[in-house]
Amino acid sequence: MFCPKCKSEYRQGFYQCADCGVELVDRLPAEPADEKGDEEFVEVFSTYNQGEVAFIKSVLEGEGVTYYFQGDNPVMLIAAGAYARLLVKSDEADRAREILRDLGFL
Ligand SMILES: [Zn+2]
Repeated sequence: MFCPKCKSEYRQGFYQCADCGVELVDRLPAEPADEKGDEEFVEVFSTYNQGEVAFIKSVLEGEGVTYYFQGDNPVMLIAAGAYARLLVKSDEADRAREILRDLGFL
């Protein structure tokens, strides 16, 4: 059981939130942010250089940026025309671009 107001979770048998005094509901309405596929990723950078991929990964991880590389398989990189694309969560893209610019990648 959940309080629709403060979102506290209660065990079965409770029908009212002790804090808010509102009636508990079986489940909270799904929040848009929790829906799968809601998070958008945008391409910020792409490279053929596996060393750059590794370096950027370590920097972005240190900065706590939500990202992933598409096609960063080394075997794929060797194949002609294959390159790794850096995708960053849309609301963190500006920060990621700033970081890459500081590093001289952009
Ligand atoms: Zn409550």
